[in-house]
Amino acid sequence: MTDATRRLRRWCALLYLGLLVPSAVLVWQGANNLRYQSFHSAHALAEGLAQRIGDDLGRTLAAEQARAATDYEFFVLSGDQYLQRSPLADLAPAVDLPGLVGFFQVDAAGRISTPVEPPARQAENAALSARELADRQAQASRLRSLVAPAAESKRYAAPVTSAKEGVSEPVSGEAATPATLDELQFNVAFDEAVVQAEERAEQRPVKQQARRLPQDVQASSAGGLPPGIASIVAEIDPMILSRLDDAHLIAHRRVYIDGQIKVQGFVIAIEPFVERYFADVFLKSPLAKTSEMIVALNNEVLDVRSDTPSERAYSASDFAGTLLLRTRLPAPANGIELVFNARELPLGAGAGTLMWTAAALFLLLTVGIYVLYRLGRRHILLAGQQRDFVAAVSHELKTPLTAIRMYGEILRAGWADEEKKRTYYDFIYHEAERLSRLVASVLQLARLENGSGADEPLVERRVGELFSLLQEKSATLAEAEGFDITWVDESDGASVQVAEDAWVQVMLNLIDNGIKFSRDAEQKRLTVTARNDASGVTISVRDYGPGIPKAQLKRIFEMFYRAESELTRETRGTGIGLSLVKGLVARMNGSVDVANRSPGAEFSVRLPRA
Ligand code: ADP
Repeated sequence: MTDATRRLRRWCALLYLGLLVPSAVLVWQGANNLRYQSFHSAHALAEGLAQRIGDDLGRTLAAEQARAATDYEFFVLSGDQYLQRSPLADLAPAVDLPGLVGFFQVDAAGRISTPVEPPARQAENAALSARELADRQAQASRLRSLVAPAAESKRYAAPVTSAKEGVSEPVSGEAATPATLDELQFNVAFDEAVVQAEERAEQRPVKQQARRLPQDVQASSAGGLPPGIASIVAEIDPMILSRLDDAHLIAHRRVYIDGQIKVQGFVIAIEPFVERYFADVFLKSPLAKTSEMIVALNNEVLDVRSDTPSERAYSASDFAGTLLLRTRLPAPANGIELVFNARELPLGAGAGTLMWTAAALFLLLTVGIYVLYRLGRRHILLAGQQRDFVAAVSHELKTPLTAIRMYGEILRAGWADEEKKRTYYDFIYHEAERLSRLVASVLQLARLENGSGADEPLVERRVGELFSLLQEKSATLAEAEGFDITWVDESDGASVQVAEDAWVQVMLNLIDNGIKFSRDAEQKRLTVTARNDASGVTISVRDYGPGIPKAQLKRIFEMFYRAESELTRETRGTGIGLSLVKGLVARMNGSVDVANRSPGAEFSVRLPRA
């Protein structure tokens, strides 16, 4: 590889990289934009869902929050002072709390009561059948057994560690499932997913501060009631939702009624509650197809949902996709956090276009630069060959001229005897002949190159006539080198269209090459054969020399091409002979070809029959 080619290669590589890198960056940015768009729409969907869930649950919880403290008794005083059943006294009260175990109230003494069970002293007023009473007592005792441990320890909110403290036993086998949200590993590709959550968390603090809502709860609307009953001034703390055990949640609030502190609230089963407020909404949304939703309460994972139904067990590293949204629900449900995690972010229709554009760009760039490189290399090669050609032509002219002048001087001075004279005259004749052929070739080439000069007219000649045109001229060539030329005419007297001078030049070039390159061969002979076949007349020149290396067969017809070998270094030449042959034969509407024979090479000129 020459210096120039190396430089070209470096520049091409540089250009390629210089174009490739920015293009790759562009494509990468495009893909990122698409990903962001996709994230954004999923994120918006998730926000909408969180909003809906928050509103829905918020409404229910707010209604419970607003519930009169007195509703937690079996009897309440109606407007017209009659005792009547509290709205919570029904076994299935009209509240939107699926999975409800029951409402409860714990008084300062730690007694747990429930509005479904009438106090013993009022039992006969309740007008309940024995069967119904038994049902209510059963529900009450179930509720008590759930609430009692929490009530005893004055902890209604069972923290994460509740299981260890014996409030509830975790179901064995679930130990592998991470219990807290913080243990889960999310892939936060877009800050928005979390910043949003933090912002919301700030706006709506986890703990609704002791911003007590003094509520004047009018136990009954009308006046005229005995003091102390007519208007019970109650102060009610916000309702707090927490986990009671593996299967239940507890919502509780503290109320201050006439100096007494009571705890009121309800117990609800997690499964139906999550189903109603979270899973139903989520699974109906298109987001469920690509994402999962995690519901957590006070950082404890309550449930993980996706549209692959069976898989409920998960591990901390299951959430490898992209975090869409982590958000806290607004108060009063602000203990609850929702996390939406996309398993995949579909890039949409734009991705296909981008891929094709990127592929086309890449292909264009690669092919373009490669073609540029090839062109440049060809140019460099040609320039080099041209240089070599000028050097070769000068050399080809100078050497014989020097010799001719030397012999001329010897002859003029009369220093040579008769025998020597003969050799010198021969030499001068042959070299002059060769020089004029060379000059003719160069001129001819220039004409061919420019496409200028009057075309020699084509005439019809028989193969026999063509052979005799050549025989004398080639005989002198061959004799000088001690070669034999055999002429074989198998053309059956066919005739072809040729330009006579061009024809002679073509054949002499081939014969000259044959002699030149097989000078050291064992058989110093050439065979010129004319054959008549279906496609026309083929005239071939075969030598018995070394032949042509396979790799060079295709290139020897190129202008200025000289095979790099010992042989060519030893022989004279300019590399224009064969390209001239090709050009001239083409002008006669023919073609030229070469094949290796063993031994030697065979050049065939094919001409159309006249
Ligand atoms: P030149 O003869 O001036 O080198 P040509 O165009 O006639 O240029 O030939 C090109 C090359 O083809 C030669 O340098 C040589 O390597 C190869 N070549 C041509 N004819 C023969 C042949 N008869 N035998 C072997 N090699 C040949």
